[in-house]
Amino acid sequence: MEILIRGLKYIVTQDDRRRILRNSDILIKDGIIESVGKVSGYTDYVINGSNFVAIPGLINTHAHVPMTLFRGVADDMKLFPWLQDKIWPMEANLKPYHIKAGTELGLLETIRTGTTTLFDMYFFEDAIAEVFTEFGSRGVLAEAILDFGTPECKDVDSCLSIADNFVKKWKDHPLVEPGYGPHAPYTVSPESLKRISGKAADNNSLIQIHLAETQREINEIKEKTGRRPIELAKEVGVLGPKTVAAHVVWPSEREVKLLAQSGTLVSHNPVSNLKLASGFSPVPDMINEGVKVSLGTDGPASNNLMDLIETIKVTALIHKTVKKDPTVMPAQLVFDMATRIPGDFLNWNIGRIEPGFDADIVLLDAELPWWTPLHSVISHLVYSARSTDVRYVLIKGDLVLKNGKFTKKDETEIMRNAEKASLDLLEKSGVSSMLKDMS
Ligand SMILES: [Zn+2]
Repeated sequence: MEILIRGLKYIVTQDDRRRILRNSDILIKDGIIESVGKVSGYTDYVINGSNFVAIPGLINTHAHVPMTLFRGVADDMKLFPWLQDKIWPMEANLKPYHIKAGTELGLLETIRTGTTTLFDMYFFEDAIAEVFTEFGSRGVLAEAILDFGTPECKDVDSCLSIADNFVKKWKDHPLVEPGYGPHAPYTVSPESLKRISGKAADNNSLIQIHLAETQREINEIKEKTGRRPIELAKEVGVLGPKTVAAHVVWPSEREVKLLAQSGTLVSHNPVSNLKLASGFSPVPDMINEGVKVSLGTDGPASNNLMDLIETIKVTALIHKTVKKDPTVMPAQLVFDMATRIPGDFLNWNIGRIEPGFDADIVLLDAELPWWTPLHSVISHLVYSARSTDVRYVLIKGDLVLKNGKFTKKDETEIMRNAEKASLDLLEKSGVSSMLKDMS
């Protein structure tokens, strides 16, 4: 199957020279980008690109996708009471039926907002992976492991065995990269972390973990172990080139060096950090020290969106004010954090539009007032673009969003199912809901 996207206004290649091509075409053959530039000849399917800017599909490196069901249920709370009084009681009642409905809603949102690869850490990842493959979306999925268990497993042994089976089952799937998700140093003991990192190494799989998110976590871990969380993670073998550390708001200077030396990928989640008042991650300093930093939204209960285009803008803005320097975090660098940097971290050929790479491509409508005049495409992508400008999304050449419409399932059905699952969950856990009060 060949697809030709003809006469694009601009192509943001994100190749090594960061070339931006004007009035150009992209030819896709069997899911792979065949050529970029001027293409002639007959193909099976042609998209007229004259109104559009083409970018590589965005990569969101931290989320908990089924938490779409908790969107707006408990806002304006501190992290620990938020987890203990609201989120964990609701999660205790989760069944695969809720997970599926929440994942469908979350994936619909991410695809419509230009994300083609989503990292996820949650329970029932097997059910989540099924939805990713049905929707043709790429998932870097980690089965959550907590010492006191999850809705899916009662203790670390049973969680670990579920994670093992999950990793083995999905290892060779073209759209799923399975891994282990030790939740955080405050929910997983050093002994368990050591076992999990050993398992991940044996299976050559990824680890996703929350690290150094709040000052409370730093104090708690220091008190318990005499070390800071990232130092501890290093000691128990969690850091490394196959590990994603989410948040990293409070690293010491020494810990920044540990992250850089180990090749760990940091996932910066500025909107979640702002909402939960966790603090400002020292992203410009980490980048200066050679840490690989990517972007995540976190779950929709602490954001409340999974909209990476919004996260890109917030990232570019907040660090300028924190540093009192408008030259830090320039647009090109922030855009790299959502495309090539996490793309290079993964085994897939994604994050760039160049021949030989997988055709994960997003077309944004640039025939709009906030795109005009179009002096700098990269500046507009970071400071002016809105996620609702996304009109076409291709993942490995599969057209999952066509002229603004999701092609895999009826969108209204997805939303109604998720509403139903959310109400059912709140009812079972006794948490009050505005939605229910109004109905
Ligand atoms: Zn998280």
